[in-house]
Amino acid sequence: KVAKAKVVSMIKAVPDFPKPGIVFRDITTLVEHPEGLDLTTDIIAAYYAARGAQLDAVVGCEARGFIWGATLARQLGVGLIVLRKKGKLPRETISRDYSLEYGSASLECHVDSITPGMRVVLVDDLLATGGTMAASVALVRELGADVVGTAFISDLPALGGRAKLEGDGIDVFSIVAFD
Ligand code: 5GP
Repeated sequence: KVAKAKVVSMIKAVPDFPKPGIVFRDITTLVEHPEGLDLTTDIIAAYYAARGAQLDAVVGCEARGFIWGATLARQLGVGLIVLRKKGKLPRETISRDYSLEYGSASLECHVDSITPGMRVVLVDDLLATGGTMAASVALVRELGADVVGTAFISDLPALGGRAKLEGDGIDVFSIVAFD
């Protein structure tokens, strides 16, 4: 509880970004805080440790998912697989288009990054409509990954992402939820 309150205090609410009416949950202040990354990484790692999860890799979604993808992979003693926006990955890729809270995009994964049966956790900073994470899960599953769970610093349950992912049988862990 104390840790959660601390995480909340490190995230800045920015009204009307990137559009009027949207309250953006800015995590740059969290990572600028000397304790922010350690605290949030420890909380997520503890969740999987408590469940005795056997993991082979962490998958991070561009771009803010790379921050925790890296720290979480290091903490769990596994590698990091990166999902990138279209056109950035140099080797053979597969891709998924998805719609965002504000627009649409496409994510790609290197085909040889995942071997069938690999047990992975996917991580991003925030879960809103779930479009980004649903596409990410679909991508790695297409390559044969076994999705143990998805992890976020925060989620916005009102936007339906958690319900969408859980409805598809995907485990969702988030440190804090905002209305
Ligand atoms: P979704 O696909 O679930 O609708 O949106 C989540 C994606 O958009 C994540 O990759 C996340 O980084 C970004 N995003 C959307 N809204 C916010 C926000 O309020 N704060 C932050 N930090 N990221 C957001």
